[in-house]
Formats: sequence, structure tokens, C-alpha cells
Amino acid sequence: MVERQIEARGICNPRVLAAMREIPRHVFIPPPYDQSAYDDNPLPIGNGQTISQPYIVALMTELLCPEPSDNVLEIGAGSGYQAAVLSRLVNKLTTMERIPAVATLARNNLTSLGIQNVEVIDGDGTQGYLQNAPYDGIMVTAATPEIPKALTDQLSEGGRLVAPVGGRDIQELVTLEKQGDLLIPEHHGGVRFVPLIGKHGWEN
Ligand code: SAH
Repeated sequence: MVERQIEARGICNPRVLAAMREIPRHVFIPPPYDQSAYDDNPLPIGNGQTISQPYIVALMTELLCPEPSDNVLEIGAGSGYQAAVLSRLVNKLTTMERIPAVATLARNNLTSLGIQNVEVIDGDGTQGYLQNAPYDGIMVTAATPEIPKALTDQLSEGGRLVAPVGGRDIQELVTLEKQGDLLIPEHHGGVRFVPLIGKHGWEN
């Protein structure tokens, strides 16, 4: 999977590639879809939600530029797969999930791999999570009409945010880097995510 779908498409950060090799994706996918765990697709995880395509997980991880000492926030824990990959690359990860049953799934999946530096928080991630802020990186893994200000407020100086921004069906992957009062944007192509539903996202 890593060689054909990820390295071949230009992901080159060695730490990101190593983390993608270490985390078994099938652990995060319920049967019968676990048979397809190493295919180049998003897959259903129940409750109408999906685990992202492996290439997109690798791309978003690389765009975040994670460092070993980083404190990172993820919005949209889903299966916990992206969180597991990030757990290998940063010091501490907080991941938020609005559907309690999905948060439990993420927690169980992470525990089954013995991952201890990830905290799964039940709640609306469009408001961030002030208790563990500021964050060196924030990754939004659900589609948002715009990037909630609460999130950029919780970024540290020099911190980076990556998010799919746009319509409900199709979005563009955007990064923002916080430099003083500025947020420097970069665009990284089209993606398709399930909607971010909450106070500063979609209504439902
Ligand atoms: N990162 C996940 C995939 C995310 S799917 C993985 O690795 O598997 C998007 C997830 O975001 C869904 O589980 C959805 O319930 C959740 N979500 C949507 N809106 C949210 C919000 N406002 N706060 C927290 N989670 C949200």
C-alpha cells in the first residue's frame, strides 16, 4: 500500500512513510470491508461515516509537517486511523468526535494497538478544545464551509492547520500557517470528505 499508493504519488517525508507502514489499517475497518483495507479507497466504518483513503491520510499528515515535540488536535476521530498515524509522529494528540458511538470505536481501536498518547474527546470540534490548546498543528478530517475561527485561535505561533474546505460534496485541501496576525494559505487540490457538522460547520 505504502509503496504503490503513497510513495508512488509523491509523499516523501520518511517519518510519515514509516508511520504509514507501522499502523495496520485493517484494525480500523469493520467486516466485511476489512478485506479491502489496503485498497486505494475510503471505506464505511458505520454510523454513515468513513475512514479516509490511505493516500489522503498520508498527504494531510505530510502537509501538517509534524514534529516529535508537537501538541496536535484532530477534528473527526472517525475510526481512529489518522489519529494512530499521527500518534507515531507527535508528542500528544487530542482527537474530537461528535458521534459518541464513533468516539468509542476510535478509543477501542487505539487501545487495541496500545497507543497511549491520544486523547479521544466527545464533542463538537468546530469549537476546538481549549483545555489542551495551543496546538502546533490542527487537522480537520471532515468537510467545512470555512475554517472555524475558534480553531485558528487555538493554533500556536508558527502552527499549521490542514482542512478540506468548500461545499458539502467536494472540497479543496487547504493549509494555513499562523505567522503573527497572518494566516498564510496554500491550496492542495480537490478532495471529498463527509461534512463537519456543528456550531461553526454545517447545520446537519
Ligand atoms: N479521521 C477519520 C476519518 C474522519 S470521517 C479516520 O481516520 O478514520 C469524519 C468524522 O468527523 C466522522 O466520524 C464524523 O462523525 C466526525 N465529525 C463531523 N463533524 C464533527 C464535529 N463538529 N466535531 C467532531 N467530529 C465531527
